[in-house]
Amino acid sequence: MKILLVDDNKKDLKTSASLVEEVGHTPIVCDNAHEALTFFDSEASTPYLIITDWEMPDMDGSELCQRLRNLPFTVSPYIILTSAEEFSDAEVCALENGADDFIEKPMSLRSLTARIRVAERILSTQLNLRNLALTDGLTGLLNRRAGMTAIQTQIARIERHENLHGCVIMCDIDYFKRINDNYGHTAGDIVLREVANRMSESLRPFDTICRYGGEEFLIFCEAGEKEITAILDRIMDVVSSEPVMLDNGDYLHVTLSMGCHVDEQSAPLTSKLKQADELLYQAKGNGRNQYVTDLGALSANG
Ligand SMILES: [Mg+2]
Repeated sequence: MKILLVDDNKKDLKTSASLVEEVGHTPIVCDNAHEALTFFDSEASTPYLIITDWEMPDMDGSELCQRLRNLPFTVSPYIILTSAEEFSDAEVCALENGADDFIEKPMSLRSLTARIRVAERILSTQLNLRNLALTDGLTGLLNRRAGMTAIQTQIARIERHENLHGCVIMCDIDYFKRINDNYGHTAGDIVLREVANRMSESLRPFDTICRYGGEEFLIFCEAGEKEITAILDRIMDVVSSEPVMLDNGDYLHVTLSMGCHVDEQSAPLTSKLKQADELLYQAKGNGRNQYVTDLGALSANG
C-alpha cells in the first residue's frame, strides 16, 4: 500500500519513511500540507493511508484533514494525525478534526504496524463496498448506472478527437427466453456469465461494457471507421464460435443481435442509446444473429 507521509520536520519524515518501509509499504513523502493536496490532484483513484503531522507552518494537520475530506476520492483515505506535543485528549481532538486515528511521536514500529493493519482492513472494506455498488453481481460487469457514467466520461474525452468515433453498441442474446424456458434459470445464468465473459475479453481495455438489463449488454468503443466492423465481427464471433457448456454437460449454441450507432455529433447519451436500440431492433427483424450499423449513413454524410 502507498502511504503518504506529511511532516515539516525533515528528520521525523525520514524516520517515519523508514518505519513504513520496514513494515513493508511504500512511503511517499511531502514536507508540507500544500504539496500533499497537490499530490491528490492527480492521484485520487487509489486507496491511501495518510499519516500527517499536526503542527506544520503552512497548514496544520487538522486543516489538511478537512481539506482532504472535501476532495472527490474514489475511496476516502484513512488519515492518521501524529503529534509530539503532549496535550490531554489529543486523540479525541484528532478524531474530531476528521482524522481516523492518532499516533504520538516518536512513533514506535509496533504501534505503527498495528495502525497500518487497521487502516488496510478499513480501506479494503470500503473498496469492496464500492465495487459491489458498481458491478452486476451475476456477470461481474459494470452495472447499468456505473456503465452509463463510464460512457459519459469516455464521450466527453472522445469529442475532442476528430478522427475517433464513439460507437454505442446495444447487444441482445438471441432467443434468451427460450433458454430460460427450456433449460431453466440456472442455465440462463450460465449463458449470461459466459457471454459477458467472452465479450469483455474480446474488447480492448479502454472499451466499456456493462450489463444494461436482463439479457442486454451495452458497449461503448472508441474506433476509427475501419476498426468498427472488425470490433463488431469479433464480438459476434467470440460469442457464437463455440457453444456454451451447461453444468449438466449439455451444449448451447448462442448468438447475438447488435445495433451499433456511430456518430460524431455531440448528442446526449440517451438519444445515442435510442438510435442503437432502433438498429438492434432492425437486426432482430432481419432474422437475428447479425448486427446493423448506421456507418453507411455516416460515410454518406461525410
Ligand atoms: Mg511539525
